[in-house]
Amino acid sequence: MAKGTFSYIKWFDELTKEDIPLVGGKGANLGEMTNHSIPVPPGFCIVSKAYKDFVTLSNINKVIQDILSKINFDDAGDLEEKTAKIRNLMIETDIPLQVERDILRAYAVLAEQINLNEPEVAVRSSATAEDLPDASFAGQQDTYLHIKGKDELLKHVKKCWASLWTSRATYYRHIKGFDHMSVLLSVVVQKMVNASKSGVMFTINPISNNSDEIMINASWGLGEAIVSGSVTPDEYIIDKKTLDIKEERISQKTVMVIREASGGGTTTVNVKDILGPGAISQPCLSEDEVKKIASMGKRIENVYGFPQDIEWAIDRDTGELYILQSRPVTTFKPQKSEEPIQFDTKTEPEVLVKGLAASPGIAVGKVKKIQSIDEIGKIQEGDILVTAMTNPDMVPAMKKAVAVVTDEGGRTCHAAIVSREFGIPCIVGTQNATEVLEDGMTVTVDATRGVVYKGDRLLQLQGEKPKTSTPTVGISEQKVKEIVEQWAPITGTKIYMNLGEPGLIDKYKELPFDGIGLMRTEFIFTDMVGIHPMYLVKQNKGDILISRMAEGIAAVAQAIYPRPVVVRFSDFRTNEFRGLEGGDEVEPIENNPMIGWRGVSRYISPEYEEGFRLECRAIRKVREEYGLTNAWVMLPFVRNLWELDKVKAIMASEGLEQGGSLKVWIMAEVPSVVMLAEEFAKKVDGISIGSNDLTQLTLGVDRDSGILNRMGYFDEQDPAVLKAIEILIDAAHKYGKTCSICGQAPSLYPGFAEFLVRKGIDSMSVNPDTVAYTKRLVASVEQRLLLERAFGKQ
Ligand code: PEP
Ligand code: MG
Repeated sequence: MAKGTFSYIKWFDELTKEDIPLVGGKGANLGEMTNHSIPVPPGFCIVSKAYKDFVTLSNINKVIQDILSKINFDDAGDLEEKTAKIRNLMIETDIPLQVERDILRAYAVLAEQINLNEPEVAVRSSATAEDLPDASFAGQQDTYLHIKGKDELLKHVKKCWASLWTSRATYYRHIKGFDHMSVLLSVVVQKMVNASKSGVMFTINPISNNSDEIMINASWGLGEAIVSGSVTPDEYIIDKKTLDIKEERISQKTVMVIREASGGGTTTVNVKDILGPGAISQPCLSEDEVKKIASMGKRIENVYGFPQDIEWAIDRDTGELYILQSRPVTTFKPQKSEEPIQFDTKTEPEVLVKGLAASPGIAVGKVKKIQSIDEIGKIQEGDILVTAMTNPDMVPAMKKAVAVVTDEGGRTCHAAIVSREFGIPCIVGTQNATEVLEDGMTVTVDATRGVVYKGDRLLQLQGEKPKTSTPTVGISEQKVKEIVEQWAPITGTKIYMNLGEPGLIDKYKELPFDGIGLMRTEFIFTDMVGIHPMYLVKQNKGDILISRMAEGIAAVAQAIYPRPVVVRFSDFRTNEFRGLEGGDEVEPIENNPMIGWRGVSRYISPEYEEGFRLECRAIRKVREEYGLTNAWVMLPFVRNLWELDKVKAIMASEGLEQGGSLKVWIMAEVPSVVMLAEEFAKKVDGISIGSNDLTQLTLGVDRDSGILNRMGYFDEQDPAVLKAIEILIDAAHKYGKTCSICGQAPSLYPGFAEFLVRKGIDSMSVNPDTVAYTKRLVASVEQRLLLERAFGKQ
């Protein structure tokens, strides 16, 4: 049977890593790997539009939204009850015929491809916001293994869709600020590998952060045993260059997950009953297998250019290695506490339990033991959560805890991953923490060494440097520096990059830039929000703008942290604002939008102030909730001093007060700013020259006029514009402020960039394609300048 055309299906070989909106992170990765000849079991994705059409064509979206609006997220019972309602609704609703037909046809094609009648498949959900570098949704949506037959397939596809609405996934989206309705779900249907052994691999050492090492976890049977933490796996640390095994730790693997003997699904069984008692302590991988897996890890990391977290399996019958999934290693945050800490060394420490240090850091608190999910209410802010193994339902409790200690699990299990996400110390695989540790007991969890001590072993010593520093997790700064240094020389003038589309940051983030000098939020307004801010305000749905705008900015700020992202508030003109949904209702029509109601004049007028406040809240959210204080703000189209005072007051009332880590910049685009440059400089942290508008307004040349452009009137290198720039740089420096430029000119004209360096500009923000070139150009101009000054030539 030929594959044929499908509306709701994409085969792995039709997909690349860019297809996340279509098939989610998991699906896009499987596609990318298939196209790089990585041995991925064959299969297809039911695209996210199928889920969307399922909820819209059946009209259940309205019911979902209604239930959602009534959830009290602080009440776990209420959250569970309401999300269960949504899940049931989805299970009971029929799949639209056209979607069902495509799924069954694709299943038949797959069957023919692999030469099996009604093959067993794995049915996995792949959320469109899942697996992003900043949000590890560990164990979030469901995966169903060994599914056989059409009815079972359809049933499990619906179950996957419904899994988007578990209490934990819903809660996770809530705290992460994702908009519930815009997170869609694709379903991956893939030939089932009947694994004799399987596991997880990190292509960096996630504990020490060493990117020259690979870590492999392995256990008998299916990998679910490791991911769920029901077994403490064997662990190998491998030298990435030589593939030599540097460390190995063979565990007691008492249980394994295998295919259910009758019907579909899986079951957990005792290793001794299936493989004999010897297998429990026997290494499950040979040295050759370890090397083969590690070498595959290197290949996959090369495909993505970023450390990966990979699920692998070895087929029982053929001994072949298969890759089931790969995703970027979550960018972990450093420890919350900045308090200097030091161990109390006066008394002999009493070790209570030992385990694997899975999320580094040290914490002191009272033990709270959790046997089942009903008890999570016991956990108070500052407690130490001790349990056999965490599961995603415990996430709200984990968020409150200062540390997590488990009996089971390896460094890649749920507790480990989520703890790292939240930046709390975690020790896993202690075997006996729930026995030894008593409720209410004060303990010190040292998750840099994997030890729990009795009592409070820390002294808070004010003003002293920490003796036990918390290693920062994620790709090391050293590694990033190495890449940067390979690419470009050091420059005294900062080279920033202009970027508006958050989705592109992954592509460009390794370029040698010092920050984002202009993030045009208009891209977010168009692509991620699509609705006019004031229209949202009118409907009481301002939160949509806040969460999506925050999400977009955070994606960039997170990716390049700690380098700054200068976020420019919306600078649509009225004609552009009218293009957004609801714009025709709330946006006036102007004759000259280019010099009309734009920039700060909008923010301070009653007709838009509420919309501006939403923008402020989004940035506040990025800075405070995401903790990304590298997000700065920039005001466009500033015309006079009094409006600047007014807008700063509004920002301050929304928690964006200038000072500390929050830098407030203005754009110099209107000649009035040049004329009063010193006065403006006094009021802000930085001035960024918008040479596009500044040229337009200095020369009185419509930047969009084809006629004038063709005639050469629009010229940023006109002496009048150059004079204006010189005035701005000098004024900023006179008051100790920075002066940057973010218009097109330095990306276009090397001579212009040279002029800026000679005049002492602090930074220039250029397009991604010219970052590396500009960096080299600027370096050469700076060296020339030094020589000229040294030898007295001017
Ligand atoms: C400018 O005016 O130079 C600028 C960078 O802003 P925009 O092009 O978005 O108006
Ligand atoms: Mg401009």
